[in-house]
Amino acid sequence: MLDVAIIGGGPAGLTAGLYTTRGGLKNVTMFEKGMPGGQIMNSSEIENYPGITEVKSGMDMMAPWLEQCQRFGLKYEMANVEKVSVNSDGTFQIKFDDGRIEQALSVIIGTGSTPRRAGFKGEDRFFGKGISTCATCDGFFYKGKEVSVIGGGDTALEEAIYLSEIASKVYLIHRRDKFRAAPSTIERVKKIENIELILNSTPEEAFGDDKSGVQGLRIKTPEGLRELPTTGIFVFVGNNVNNSVLKDENGNFICEVTEHGEVVVDLNMKTNIPGLFAVGDMRLNAPKQVVVAAGDGATAGINAINYVMEKK
Ligand code: FAD
Ligand code: NAP
Repeated sequence: MLDVAIIGGGPAGLTAGLYTTRGGLKNVTMFEKGMPGGQIMNSSEIENYPGITEVKSGMDMMAPWLEQCQRFGLKYEMANVEKVSVNSDGTFQIKFDDGRIEQALSVIIGTGSTPRRAGFKGEDRFFGKGISTCATCDGFFYKGKEVSVIGGGDTALEEAIYLSEIASKVYLIHRRDKFRAAPSTIERVKKIENIELILNSTPEEAFGDDKSGVQGLRIKTPEGLRELPTTGIFVFVGNNVNNSVLKDENGNFICEVTEHGEVVVDLNMKTNIPGLFAVGDMRLNAPKQVVVAAGDGATAGINAINYVMEKK
């Protein structure tokens, strides 16, 4: 029986691994289906992690995190978790896609979320080279330049407002003439002079070259095709929370989640199931930042130690 099973090896899961093992737990394993480090490994530059003044790639930044955890005894396995369930005695069963099963006193889950893609030509090719799903992360690279924002929900409009303070101009492209965002946010957007609304329009193709990245965006408008000279394209068309591990065989969640699939936690990262913690991008109201995910991991780690000690 594991003391703690950590599912997901992004910044949240790794930090949970650091705190649980350094805090004295001897039997903690982190299960990660890909390379440890999480989605920030896809970022070419990260410059907003406190204390790191050098601009690093996500891969360089995350490289030492696992090694640091392993120094304190964290075990790591490359494994794809299929399901977590609660046993009748309150312990947990972790089932893997190869049928293997592990048992744990406590589970910290940090499987992240995945921004949806809009599906236009060039979107995958230039992702990370001009196309982004994170304005807080990448907006600064377009200081004084023109950018495009795609989407009509709260995220797109709020991020367009954020970008309008940095960029010289923001083209907000939405496929309908009605926004999904809150009325007050729509009113704010309409008052900002350097945001141009392009409605009933869809992105057709991001173009450019492999060296310089995106050089422009071709969009389909009611008046015909239009080319926007933007080297930054921000796509905000919704997010999928990676929560399938928390569904039982009937498709019901084993813990409380919001209508958007985010796991409901308290300030200690506790779910409504004793011993089950959720951290990082998958939890309620996550700001979707590395520093926050790491903070969540530390919080859950500290609380998991107390939980396991009491259980033992
Ligand atoms: P993730 O990083 O998503 O990690 C979750 C991990 O769980 C993944 O490694 C995944 O493989 C694993 N996993 C999922 N399901 C399973 C399963 N069933 N079994 C086993 N493992 C599983 N944030 C910043 O602060 N600054 C930035 O500059 C910045 N730039 C970004 C640029 C890009 C291109 C992207 C995509 C994101 C950026 N972010 C940035 C956001 C940041 O990456 C996330 O907020 C952060 O990684 C969330 O950490 P996490 O641990 O919650 O989840
Ligand atoms: P969302 O509400 O699902 O909006 C996604 C937007 O993207 C929609 O306008 C949608 O268009 C558009 N879209 C979807 N697929 C597209 C495609 N392939 N091509 C072009 N456009 C596409 O997502 P969200 O904005 O990320 O918000 C998610 C939830 O979080 C929402 O409930 C939102 O209210 C909430 N949220 C709240 C706040 C806040 O309260 N401050 C902030 C952020 C998010 P259609 O409108 O035509 O479907």
